[in-house]
Amino acid sequence: MLQTFKTKLVEKKRLAERIYIFKFLCVEPDSLHFEAGQYMILKVPQGDGEYKNRLYSILNTPAKKHDFELLVKLIPGGVASEYLTQLELGAEAIFDGPAGVFTLKEEERHKGRHKVFVATGTGVAPAVSMIEAHLPHHPEEHFVLLWGTPTKKDVYLTEEWEKLEGQYPNFRFAVFLSQEEELSGDEKKHFMLGRVNKGIDALTTAFGLPTGGDIANFDLYVAGDRYIVDSLREYLLSKGADPGHLVLEKFV
Ligand SMILES: Cc1cc2nc3c(=O)[nH]c(=O)nc-3n(C[C@H](O)[C@H](O)[C@H](O)COP(=O)(O)OP(=O)(O)OC[C@H]3O[C@@H](n4cnc5c(N)ncnc54)[C@H](O)[C@@H]3O)c2cc1C
Repeated sequence: MLQTFKTKLVEKKRLAERIYIFKFLCVEPDSLHFEAGQYMILKVPQGDGEYKNRLYSILNTPAKKHDFELLVKLIPGGVASEYLTQLELGAEAIFDGPAGVFTLKEEERHKGRHKVFVATGTGVAPAVSMIEAHLPHHPEEHFVLLWGTPTKKDVYLTEEWEKLEGQYPNFRFAVFLSQEEELSGDEKKHFMLGRVNKGIDALTTAFGLPTGGDIANFDLYVAGDRYIVDSLREYLLSKGADPGHLVLEKFV
C-alpha cells in the first residue's frame, strides 16, 4: 500500500551536465521499506493544495531504511525538474510510495537464469538497485549490465560498478556510447562505441556468460525512456528473447 512520506533534501550531487543524485531523509514516517527496482512518486506543489506527480526510481538498495537516493535527469522547463533544481538543502519534499513491479523475479521459473539489465540514461537507477541488492544472494547466476548513454561526459557511477566487478566474479558491465567516435586503450575495457543493441548482439559471446548460446535463457530487464524501451523490446524479441522473461520499465 502506498504511504505518504514527508522528507527532507539532505544531499544534491551533480554527476553530469543535467544529471543529479538527490538524497532525501525520511522524516515522517522515518523509515522506508521497498523492493529494489521500485519508485517513489514525487508530489510537486502547484499551489491551492494541488500537486503534480512525477515518478522516480530509487537508486540505492533496500538495506538503507532512513533515506533514499534518486538519479534524476533535469529537463529544462519540466515541472518536477524545475522544482528539484530550486529545492534547497533542508527543504521539505513530499512523496507517495514505494510502488512498481520492476523488481527481480525470483519465482521457481526464474531460478538459475542469468540476469541481463539493459538500460539507457537514468533508466540505470532501478537496475543498479536490483543488481546491488541481489548479486550477493545469487552466486550461481551471472548479472550483466548493458548501459547506453550518449557521450563520455554522460558517464557516471561506473567506478562503483568496477568495484562490484572486483568483488563479484559473476558481475560484468559495459557502457555503450552512441555519440562518441573514439576510445582510448584504457577506455575499451568497459566502453564500446554505438548503441546498447551492440551489447545485445554480443550477449551470447561476451561478458563471460555460460549460456548455451541462447538469449532465450536469460531474464532480461529493460529500463529507460518509453520509445527506447519499446524499440529494445522489439530488438530483443527479434533475437529470440522469451517474452515471459522480459521485464520492462518505461520512464515517460
Ligand atoms: C516508472 C517511472 C520511473 C521513472 N524514474 C525516473 C528516474 O529514476 N529518473 C528520471 O530522471 N526520470 C524518471 N522517470 C521520469 C520522470 O517521472 C519524469 O517524467 C521526468 O523527470 C520529467 O518530469 P518533469 O516534470 O521534469 O518534466 P515534464 O513537465 O513532465 O515534461 C516537460 C517536457 O519535457 C519532455 N520530457 C519529459 N521527459 C523527457 C526526457 N527524458 N527527455 C526529453 N524530454 C522529456 C516532456 O514530453 C515535456 O514536453 C520515471 C518515470 C516513470 C514512469
